[in-house]
Amino acid sequence: MLPNIPIKWYKCHVELGAQSGLLAAIVSVAVAVSVILRGRRSRVNAFFIVFCGNLLLHFLAAFIYHFSREFIWFRIDLVAASLLPVTSLLFFGHFLWKEPKTPRKYVISAYVISSGLVTFLFTPWSDNRPTVTMVVAVVFTAMYLCAYLVYLRYRELKSQRERTRLRYLLVVMLVATTFILLGMLPGNLGFLRTWGDLVSMFFLYFLSQSLLKYRLLDIQELLGRGLVLIAVALMLSLVFGVLVLWAGVSPEVSLFHAFIASFVILILFEPLRDKVEGSTNRLLFRERHEFRGKLEDLRREIANILDLRQMTNVILDTLYESMRITQSSIYFKEDGGAGYYLVGHRGPKPPARIDVAAHRTFFEQVKKTPTVVLSETHERFLAEQSAPADSSKPPTEIQHARQVLKTLAHMKSALCIPFPSQDEILGLWNLQDDASAESYSTDEIARMIALGEQATINIENSKMFERIRERDRLAVLGEMSAGLAHEIRNPLGAIKGAAQYLDPSSVGKDASQFLEIIIEETDRLNLVVDQFLDYSRPFQARKDPTDINRILQQTTRLLSTGFNDRDIDVKIELQSDLPLVDANAPQLTQVFINLLNNAMESMPAGGRIEVRTKLRSSGFGSQSGPHRHTGAVEILVVDTGRGISPSEQERLFVPFFTTKEHGTGLGLSISQRIVEHHGGEIRVRSQEGEGTTFTVVLPYPTNTTAPAKNMEKPSKSTESSDDLLFPDKNNR
Ligand code: ADP
Repeated sequence: MLPNIPIKWYKCHVELGAQSGLLAAIVSVAVAVSVILRGRRSRVNAFFIVFCGNLLLHFLAAFIYHFSREFIWFRIDLVAASLLPVTSLLFFGHFLWKEPKTPRKYVISAYVISSGLVTFLFTPWSDNRPTVTMVVAVVFTAMYLCAYLVYLRYRELKSQRERTRLRYLLVVMLVATTFILLGMLPGNLGFLRTWGDLVSMFFLYFLSQSLLKYRLLDIQELLGRGLVLIAVALMLSLVFGVLVLWAGVSPEVSLFHAFIASFVILILFEPLRDKVEGSTNRLLFRERHEFRGKLEDLRREIANILDLRQMTNVILDTLYESMRITQSSIYFKEDGGAGYYLVGHRGPKPPARIDVAAHRTFFEQVKKTPTVVLSETHERFLAEQSAPADSSKPPTEIQHARQVLKTLAHMKSALCIPFPSQDEILGLWNLQDDASAESYSTDEIARMIALGEQATINIENSKMFERIRERDRLAVLGEMSAGLAHEIRNPLGAIKGAAQYLDPSSVGKDASQFLEIIIEETDRLNLVVDQFLDYSRPFQARKDPTDINRILQQTTRLLSTGFNDRDIDVKIELQSDLPLVDANAPQLTQVFINLLNNAMESMPAGGRIEVRTKLRSSGFGSQSGPHRHTGAVEILVVDTGRGISPSEQERLFVPFFTTKEHGTGLGLSISQRIVEHHGGEIRVRSQEGEGTTFTVVLPYPTNTTAPAKNMEKPSKSTESSDDLLFPDKNNR
């Protein structure tokens, strides 16, 4: 028996060799067709298709010759092989360089040698063994030359990810070429040829994936999984082989042993796969394996953090330390939703605020794909459009992709993960790795999205917690305030009365100053108590049709001395045809006084305040909410003061939050309460060091009679209102 084994083995390998050649031919067709079907008709793709066609001819001719033994097929095979240097060098030259200057001299030499060889093959002197050896030598020289070009490019490239891609390519290419070469040499290594063919198939597939610009990291993932499967398959075949060997050849015994083998395999499969997968990932893809673990840990860790700043810092720090991110930032939605403010960042500073109106297209995209917005998707889309055959897409889509990319670049982001709640986007998380545009694999992105979902839950919980805390505080405040106010007010009145009763001239100069202080401070305390009461008292104020412009004119007039004293320039632009709003005029006056006082106090060295009104005909608030069919009047108070930091903005409307030495911290919370009581909302937009805009939006019912023509006509233009307020302004 024994002497027969090598013959069987040889036969088997010859059959296998022919079959693997045919398989390689089929794969060449498949990858070429996939590149054609994708419609990427650039030059490099055309060269790839030609290269695949050349390989197909070579494999197919060899396969047919193997069975038919017709000499013509042998000759076709030799011609196809002789053309390979040209087609392969042309393809690799264009694949590796945009302007293939480096390989030009090799391509020219290949043209000369290949055309010489092909011509020679049609002469009568070619039917001998040295010709075949010569063709084989030329083909393998060309293949190793291609590998050398890949190596040259690998050394030139700076991007770590691109280098990794080329490293893979180089290894697979060298293995395939060397296996085939060794398989062709005389000796016992003929079986290697089959393996060479198989690796070539993988190589072609890898090339086509790179051409179609599939994500590099996904290719790595594929590679990893492929390796795991091969390793598991090998181990299981080993188990099976041992058991079958033990069973011998008797049919009854082998059925029994096949059953046992299958049983063992079934038991071993999962733990073996997990083990091999774990080790492969740790050994070959360590960095990515750790990054994935980090994302997973982070998701679990932030689930226990309620403080949003802390959560932001944990996310940013942990991932920044992983070295897989060069820039990262988190934005939260502003109150009112006109923009998103920067809460934290690592790497170069992105803009402090993203305006929703200015980046409308991007936010439309976020609505469309609320899980992730990837720059590479849009870049790929635009790249496809540059090929003339593909420019069938309407220009609006191209415009859309460009705008999305512009916003991403503005935020220094390659990947933006929104924090979507039910009908709003609560925040944006941006990431970028400068080393490459394709920085994260699909699997990693999926984990980041899961992390984003956890962050969204945290934001929602924290808001709810804040609301509950606020409600509890108000309830306690309400109970305390009435009693407390009386307790304080009565003695205060007595103190002030007593102080006023004393004659300043009779107490001496120093003491009279103290008297003044006593009176001032009792007044201030009284104010705090009043505001305290206002805040805790339920709103029952009467509402009448009210002309907002008129209230604003009166308020600014009231405060004009303060403006003049502080050297503040006031500009008023009131839209003349505002409808009347159902409101309580004294309460709204209080709101505007608060806003204007705050604006004034933010500019101790003078500045500019603008008061504007305008009509918003579209509904405001949520599209399904109570204001669906109403228009709104918008009042803007803009100052050029110190601005408000993002952390202060978060607490602006919280009662008792103040940054002023003598502030009560109740002005804005009361104002917000009043405005909300009118069915409206109050928003803030601010840039530190540049100024602040408060916007009050008040709805009016759509059946409201248009402007109050019979009432005092509001000022129309800037000049007139300024003149009205500051008649002597031009002389200042
Ligand atoms: P108070 O004025 O008594 O401090 P508010 O509730 O009116 O209370 O304001 C709270 C805080 O908001 C202020 O202390 C100030 O820091 C900030 N603030 C409000 N408006 C402005 C503004 N226009 N510019 C800068 N900071 C402001």
